[in-house]
Parts: sequence; C-alpha cells; structure tokens
Amino acid sequence: MSTPAALSFDPALLSALSGARLVAALTGAGISAESGISTFRDPDGLWARFDPHELATPSAFARDPKRVWDWYAWRRERVAAAQPNAGHLALAQLERRVPAFALITQNVDGLHQRAGSRIVIELHGNITRVKCSREGTTVERWDETAPGVPRCPVCGALLRPDVVWFEEPLPESALAAAQHAAERCDVMLVVGTSAEVYPAAALPASAKATGATVVEINPNSTPLSGEADFVLAGPAGQVLPALVARIRGPR
Ligand code: NAD
Repeated sequence: MSTPAALSFDPALLSALSGARLVAALTGAGISAESGISTFRDPDGLWARFDPHELATPSAFARDPKRVWDWYAWRRERVAAAQPNAGHLALAQLERRVPAFALITQNVDGLHQRAGSRIVIELHGNITRVKCSREGTTVERWDETAPGVPRCPVCGALLRPDVVWFEEPLPESALAAAQHAAERCDVMLVVGTSAEVYPAAALPASAKATGATVVEINPNSTPLSGEADFVLAGPAGQVLPALVARIRGPR
C-alpha cells in the first residue's frame, strides 16, 4: 500500500475542490472497510467466502429463500453494530462546505446517512430496508424470530432485502440522479470502489467527459487509476479527513 504521502495534497487538486460549485462523491464498499464491514472483491472480502450466485440473485432467492434471508439478516446485524468512520464523517462535513454536493453510493449499509450526509443517492438499495418480493413495497416491521422467511402483511408474499441483486436493474430514479450529478459536477471523488461494477463504474468517465476533475481515493489501484486526474493512495478514513480539512467552507 502506498502511503498517503504524509497527507500533503497537490495544490491543483485543492484549488479544483475549493473552486467547485458541485462536488460529487461516488463511494463503494472500501469506505466502510474501516467500520469493520467486509468489502466484496478484496482477498478477504465477502465474495471470497460466499458464492454470489447462491446468495445475491433472484434465482438464488427463488431456490432457497431462507438461506438468502438468513445471510442478509446476518449482514444487517453486522451493519447495525458498525459505526460510521472518519471517512463517512468527512464526506458529511464536505457536503456542508461546498455550494452543492451529491453523494452517490453503491453501499447498502446506510452509514453515510448515520454519519450525517443529508442527500444520498443509493444505487444498490439499503440492507436495512425490507420489501415485498411481489409488489416491491417497503415493509417497516417484520418478525425476525418467526420460522421461515417473513411474509408481506398485505399480500402474503415473501419479504426480501431492499437491495439490488445481480441480474436486477438499478432503481431508475437513483441512476438518473447519479448520472445527472456526474455530468454536472466540477470534481468527482471516487472512494473505495473497485470500479468494476457497472453502471456505477461508468460514472467517473461521464464526469471526466464533461470536464470534471476525477480524484480516486483507494489504497489499491483499480481500472480507474490510470484515468483519474489525481490518485490518493491511502485508506479513506485517513485521506478524506485530511483533504476536507484543507477545504474552507461556509460552515
Ligand atoms: P469492492 O469490494 O469491489 O471493492 C472495494 C474497494 O475498496 C477495493 O478497490 C479496495 O481496494 C478498496 N478499499 C479497501 N479498503 C479501503 C479503505 N480503507 N479506503 C478506501 N478504499 C478501500 O466494492 P465496490 O466497488 O463497492 O463493489 C460494488 C458492490 O459491493 C456493490 O454492489 C455494493 O452494493 C457491494 N457491497 C457493499 C457493502 C456495504 O454496503 N458496505 C459491502 C460489501 C459490498
């Protein structure tokens, strides 16, 4: 892992951030790693221990709903026990320091909101929410202790986590909002994502194509690293607070 360069930043990066009217941040599982939540694709990540086709597809749910439900219940418990880290908090602070901000996340853990971020575009849903598998309506309460998979109180269909599984489309309004922000931002921070999952991985290219400065924050290199204007090679929980501390803002 490269060091975060004693956390000194290129003046051109600080100037781009300080002068930006709209800053967008695209976050991935890496920003929550320092909160103790496993990423997907790192060597110790969730996909190294579980098969996605057994757990995160509509067909897996049709085949064995209880197994899928239980895996998500376990992840939901881990998320509930986790706390936002310095990286999440820095992004919440940045939102208050720049004229306009859009936080686009691939994460499903809700830690950005718990850190105080006000406007969060969730591309892949939220693991803390549950919805009816037939009608898609959000269900607020269910009995986790009941045998089997809990059912929708209205139609009786099985409940499922409100996350986007492989083979499923992203929520249209979230994707449109993310695309809108990517095409209008002056700076895009790309934090803790392997930049391999589309369509989210295409957002930095959209931002760059419309003239934005693209900044990657990740201890490891990714397919984006060669394209980004700046690469800050370090953990988000160290790099983001140091970066945001250098940005003067109204509040
Ligand atoms: P990923 O697992 O593919 O990649 C994680 C990236 O984070 C890697 O590039 C890694 O180098 C980087 N990273 C690790 N530690 C870091 C740190 N401390 N600071 C900064 N970067 C760090 O994750 P992804 O790109 O978000 O993949 C997308 C999918 O993963 C999404 O579908 C998302 O829903 C899902 N996911 C979400 C969570 C969560 O909500 N916390 C957890 C696991 C997976």
